[in-house]
Order: sequence, then C-alpha cells, then structure tokens
Amino acid sequence: MGFQIAIDGPAGAGKSTIAKMTAGRLGYVYVDTGAMYRAMALFLMRAQVDPEDTQAVSGKCEEADITIRYENGEQVVYLNGENVNGLIRTQEISNMASLTSKNPGVRKKLVSLQQKLARDADVVMDGRDIGTCVLPDADVKIFLTASSRVRAERRYKELTQKGTDCDLDAIEKEIIERDHQDMTREISPLQAADDAVFVDSSYMTIEEVAQVIMEKADSVR
Ligand code: C5P
Repeated sequence: MGFQIAIDGPAGAGKSTIAKMTAGRLGYVYVDTGAMYRAMALFLMRAQVDPEDTQAVSGKCEEADITIRYENGEQVVYLNGENVNGLIRTQEISNMASLTSKNPGVRKKLVSLQQKLARDADVVMDGRDIGTCVLPDADVKIFLTASSRVRAERRYKELTQKGTDCDLDAIEKEIIERDHQDMTREISPLQAADDAVFVDSSYMTIEEVAQVIMEKADSVR
C-alpha cells in the first residue's frame, strides 16, 4: 500500500487543480475519480438509459469497461477502448454523472477500480467519497470547499475565457443542485470524513491551499 492523500469536496471547489499540483510536487499519481463517473455517464447516455431507472442502470453499467492510463503525465479515461477525455466535460455529462453515480452497481464497479489503483502507487485521489469510503485509511484527508457563489464565479471565468457564453446565476443554480444531489443520496453521500482537515478555499489562493496539504502530508510522512 502506498501513501494516500484523499481530497473530497463539492463541485468547483478546486479539487482537481490542487490534487494535480500536489501530486506533481510529491511525484505521486493523480487519480481523478469524477472522470470515471463521467465516462460511465457518457456510456449510459449513449445507451439511452433512464438515469432514474435503478435496475436499468445497474444492468447496463456492467457492459462498460472503464480503464485509466497515464499518457504524458495526464490521466486518460478509456471507455470500452475509446479515449473519452475530450467528451466528458460538458454540463450534460456533469448532470448525468451526478444522477447515475448514486447507483449501487455503478459505485461498486468504480470504487473497486479506484482501490486497485491506490494499491499499486502513491496517490492523490479526488472525489466525493474518497476519505469516507474508497480509502478510509488514507494518510491525509482533506475536505475542500468554497461558497457556491465563489465556485460559480470560478467556473464562469473558466468558461468565458474559453469563449463560451454563460450566465453566472444559472451556473450557481446548477452547482447548488448538483451539491444537493451529491449530499443527499443514500450511498456514499458527499460528506467530510471525521478525521478530514476542513479547508474553505473561498478566500485562499491555490498556492495557499497547496501549502496546507503539503504541510499536512509532511507531518505524517
Ligand atoms: O468531480 P466531478 O465534477 O468530475 O464529478 C462528477 C460527478 O461524479 C459528481 O457530481 C458526483 O455525482 C460523481 N462523483 C461521485 N463520487 C466520486 C467522484 C465523483 O459520486 N468519488
């Protein structure tokens, strides 16, 4: 078993930026678990499965072979052999992933893949249930959050920089909706582990957040 850093938190809190940065500095593998739920959502969407139909989702998800490879230091998600990295960052997939990730069949399959990845390497893994469920014995657990307004503003900036037309209030509404879905589901809801370090990044820079994590990691290594 390698060294494990678990970073959980709501959508848009900056988990992936921070996790990638920390992994880079420590020479660990960054595991983005949200990308796996997104790839599964893409598969189910293509198969036109109703996300609310528990039986249908459980049955169909068995046909999805999701694997992870690292190419030039980047995590690439393969869905039945197809590189889907460029297809899973849309709003439609975010919503579908949030709906289908509450399915026990989907979670069982992806959690076991995540645990396997952590067995073979030192990892920084981000998601919603890493410290509570996937890696309950992680060496460092961080719960990273920020106010919904700040998270919406970050997303708005990112989208407008890419030239995408968008509305700040609508983005915030979607974020609140997705948080609600993720926090109130029955299995592995988004919540801080009892032993997690709570970090509110609303008024912190990326560097400041990274420092908190590095210091915590240094104190236990
Ligand atoms: O982190 P990201 O926004 O890519 O995750 C997409 C969705 O996947 C989340 O809204 C959540 O419903 C689901 N997810 C999850 N457990 C994880 C990671 C993501 O349920 N560990």
